[in-house]
Amino acid sequence: MLTIFNTLTREKEALKPIIAGKVKIYICGVTVYDHCHLGHARTYSAMDNVIRYLRYRHYDVITVRNITDIDDKIIKRSLENQETTTALTERFTKAMHDDFDALGLLEPEVEPRATQYIPHMKALMERLINQGFAYVGSSGDVYFDVRKFPHYGCLSHHDIDQLESGARVDVVEAKKDPLDFVLWKLAKPGEPAWESPWGEGRPGWHSECSAMAMDLLGETFDIHAGGRDLIFPHHENEIAQSMAATNKPFAHLWMHTGFLQVDKEKMSKSLGNFITIRDALSQHAPEVLRYFFAASHYRSPLIYTDEVLSQAKQSLTRFYTALRGLNLGAVPQHTAFEADFIKAMDDDFNSPVALSVLFDVTHEIWRLREAGSVDEAAGLGALLKHLGGLFGILQQDPEFYFQASGQVDVAKVEALIAERQQARLNKNWAEADRIRAVLLAMNVELDDTAGGKTIWKVN
Ligand code: AMP
Ligand code: ZN
Repeated sequence: MLTIFNTLTREKEALKPIIAGKVKIYICGVTVYDHCHLGHARTYSAMDNVIRYLRYRHYDVITVRNITDIDDKIIKRSLENQETTTALTERFTKAMHDDFDALGLLEPEVEPRATQYIPHMKALMERLINQGFAYVGSSGDVYFDVRKFPHYGCLSHHDIDQLESGARVDVVEAKKDPLDFVLWKLAKPGEPAWESPWGEGRPGWHSECSAMAMDLLGETFDIHAGGRDLIFPHHENEIAQSMAATNKPFAHLWMHTGFLQVDKEKMSKSLGNFITIRDALSQHAPEVLRYFFAASHYRSPLIYTDEVLSQAKQSLTRFYTALRGLNLGAVPQHTAFEADFIKAMDDDFNSPVALSVLFDVTHEIWRLREAGSVDEAAGLGALLKHLGGLFGILQQDPEFYFQASGQVDVAKVEALIAERQQARLNKNWAEADRIRAVLLAMNVELDDTAGGKTIWKVN
């Protein structure tokens, strides 16, 4: 039985999909005003492992991950850069896709952008106003009235009074209660704005996830996920406005990932202590990062140090050394190893324990190799590769791993070089340069030879 820790009940609960065999997941996405950092990579690779494992357990998984392409930070940055919010967010959306791709993250089935969902958000607000859950404040902005929603605090497990005294809540005259959150914000001159019955403005951040999730997954769906900083106020507010509007449960299970930390602090853009994914990838192979993330439970905090990264690399080398020279056959069915792996992952996706099972498999491969049982070793090798794939690791040919000292995914490099070649044929120099830069970020240096062929090396 697969169990998942639910922040809402603070218990591990059996996964019971609303539609048998189908799991609908909503993951809060990135606010695209800068490059993504390793904290983002932590959360999205943890969820990538969850999705891969659910599929391995034969669930039909549908994932929605939004892109926040309008908010205060985006407006501020676009003014600083003197570019439009659209140009800024397009640029960083593309960069995010390149980074996530380099990390081997699966694409979500749907990736809606906030600016495409303004009509849905307005419809939700209208519904809330008509039902008496929202009001127009004296400033003209529209607010959600938290005191009208009896379950407010259910996710963060605080009652309203505790939240008011403990949390940093803005005291704004226009609001009835400091915890009331903005649904529609009137635009200041020069800011991007949309028409609405309440005047030209833009939606508050929390509305987009409710509107998108309900439109794309239904009013009630299976899993909602994000980093633990989103529990309050973002997810608390999502629950309030969605349940108030529909009078139905919103998401059944709420999953929250622990922070990636640097010196005991959360890695974040606002604290300025972040390492971008592309900077990390210039030093470490994608697989090393994926191993590093999987080696801790997704709910635990995780500390980034060069030492743990080099341990991750050593572990991968141990796996690849065991696989080297084996002619991998069919994956053997129903082994005790796989049963142990499933037991660990069924227990709230306990990836560190699951990885320890992969080490058990590796020991057994060596035992068999030394005993001359090469076919059996090859079978377990296939199992190792198959299960490693659920964490985005061990999918390379071991020879490539050693050839590039595990620095790059050779197939990906070759594919990017082919794409760049096509861009050059089309005289699309900007695209060719962009691909060169992506490769450089992966530590791959290109050399366009006189004969027209592009060769490469890892720096
Ligand atoms: P943001 O772009 O800041 O809205 O963040 C997008 C997602 O990344 C959210 O689910 C955050 O909780 C998550 N996130 C941001 N920083 C970290 C971190 N240091 N560790 C883990 N997750 C993070
Ligand atoms: Zn969200």
